[in-house]
Amino acid sequence: MEPGTEQAPNGVPRTPGQGAGTGPVCPTSAALARLWPIGLRDVVLAEGSALGDWQQRNSAKTLTHCIDKVVTSGAVRNLERVAEGGSSQTPHEGMHFSDSDIYKVLEAAAWDSVRGVSTQVADFVEGTTSLLARAQRDDGYLHSWVQGQHPDLAWRDLRWGHELYCAGHLLQAAVAEGRTGSGHRLATVAGRLVEHLLKTFSLEDGDGRLVGVCGHPLIETALVEFYRMTGSKAALKLAQRQVDLRGRPDVELPTTDLTGGRPFPLSYFLHHMPVRKRSLATGHAVRELYLQAGIVDVATETGDEELLSASETIWEDLFSTKTYLTGAHGSRHRDESIGDAYELPSDRAYAETCAAIASFQWNWRLLLATGRARYADAMEHVFWNTIAGSVSREGTEFFYSNTLHLRTDHDSADEDSPSHRLEWYECACCPPNLARLMASIQAYLVTRDASGLQLHMPFSGTVSTEVPGGTVELVLRTGHPWEGATEIEVTRCSATEDWTLSLRVPERTRKHGMELSLNGRPFQASLDGSYMKVTRRWQPGDSVRVSEPMPVRVLQPHWRLDAVRDCLAVQRGPLVYCLEAEDLDDGVAIEDVALDQSRPPEPSSDVPVELEGYVQVALMARGKCFDNHSRQLYEDESANRFGAGAQALTLVPYFARGNRARAAMRVWVPALRQDGSQ
Ligand SMILES: [Zn+2]
Repeated sequence: MEPGTEQAPNGVPRTPGQGAGTGPVCPTSAALARLWPIGLRDVVLAEGSALGDWQQRNSAKTLTHCIDKVVTSGAVRNLERVAEGGSSQTPHEGMHFSDSDIYKVLEAAAWDSVRGVSTQVADFVEGTTSLLARAQRDDGYLHSWVQGQHPDLAWRDLRWGHELYCAGHLLQAAVAEGRTGSGHRLATVAGRLVEHLLKTFSLEDGDGRLVGVCGHPLIETALVEFYRMTGSKAALKLAQRQVDLRGRPDVELPTTDLTGGRPFPLSYFLHHMPVRKRSLATGHAVRELYLQAGIVDVATETGDEELLSASETIWEDLFSTKTYLTGAHGSRHRDESIGDAYELPSDRAYAETCAAIASFQWNWRLLLATGRARYADAMEHVFWNTIAGSVSREGTEFFYSNTLHLRTDHDSADEDSPSHRLEWYECACCPPNLARLMASIQAYLVTRDASGLQLHMPFSGTVSTEVPGGTVELVLRTGHPWEGATEIEVTRCSATEDWTLSLRVPERTRKHGMELSLNGRPFQASLDGSYMKVTRRWQPGDSVRVSEPMPVRVLQPHWRLDAVRDCLAVQRGPLVYCLEAEDLDDGVAIEDVALDQSRPPEPSSDVPVELEGYVQVALMARGKCFDNHSRQLYEDESANRFGAGAQALTLVPYFARGNRARAAMRVWVPALRQDGSQ
């Protein structure tokens, strides 16, 4: 099927190039898409709400912090030297893919522009865009490390060069600028770069161009988004070709040994097997998840059901056997890899922030392509746990890896597993990735189709958008993620026909059900899959209240999950909780505490004083302590493993961890059984 020829439902862009005003990911073909994003400006988050305040903090603190850091870390200077024709003897500063950090900051600034940006941000965008235009080679090539240090290596190290990876982030920044109307000069740079790619890379066998893929996937989804914005079918074809070439045995992944010779398996680069033949999630977690997002983008635009099915197969493997309770992925520091099934150690979890963001983006694409609520469940879960916890309360410190157990006395500022969030990293992929996601987060909450609107994640704010037969304005109020109730009020509606408001029922809630009332009276909504549906001729003044029970859930791991066998974890609503050393009695180590499962934890608004204003609900539980002093490392089996008496336990949300002085923390806590044994 010719891409872009299918008719999309009511009010949705029908042809490439009409995505102006939309956020990230704007399908143009209805061949596979089931749901459609609404406009970037259609959702406005409320001040004083959890999401609204976070987005505001992202603009005021995180984005400006990232701008400072890409300047002071030397990433901008790398491009300046290239633009000025500097000597190749001057060393490149930072990682050889540092350009991508700048591109992610530019993307974040573009998404932020719909709410207005500061002079500092505007000046950075202006100056950097001009710099990129000057640094770009006459033939459209752009990569400061290659141009500045190894001009002879262009496209000769697809394994490690990250040239297409950087190009992808530039395209995504240009797409953000185009869709927000915040500028046009990045589009010129991006357009020249795409032209260069099309002249360089093979589009079909035997065309004499370079046959190869990037060791770090990302270009796939960027090219599809570029196609969606510009209508460039050649860009879509190149994306499709990149997916098809990946893993093909006759396609080499050339390298120049930039890694010092350490051999990495082809699976690290996701080039070990054709994507349509794979059934297992594997390799470098971020690369796998970006690749899967690109696969869904290509499948959606080309109507390729087999390709979409291949990605859903990987999802099933990943989410049934290789996902942390916090929604994170990547259980090995070695090769930053996903690991084997059920290999999910808490204390050595890698769980990179970028993998969590990539998972969120992949699940959003799967949600649009299939309409299946399980993808929205995965988005909400990874968002409120790993992504929310990757950044400090102040918005200027970050975790790269997101461990589920930080051991007592682990005192390190090492980038690989620091005890506290760091202001920046030499490999700085995560902070600007967070900035670009949060700058556009309102675009991931609501969709529409021919029936009406779907609310996937609760939030406080307004929705002003098109519905069948007219337009509607809704006001939403919720205490999510602390409270289960969401009120939706219709403040304006011009629709002249019935339309359906669909509300996701989270998987965790399906056995309890959700209560729904319409205009103050209980209402029996139809349940279609995992969405409660209310269909009517909506009028101004109509209101819906939906209420999710928020019981404290005590969770046990699958028996194959050896690393946390006989441990328990606690969750309330979407939030996973953890124990922090700060909340234990003096002298008690977090590893010596067991959770009494006969006394279910209870929610409390009495939160630790240092977390007031950040955490609204703590959980109070009881436990006991192991008497560590009398224990040998190994000894004969003994029934009595406790010395000290009862220990009152306070659990705080995992995302809020690490904002106090003592850093030790754990999500999975050994279970104290009802007979008092462990
Ligand atoms: Zn990262």
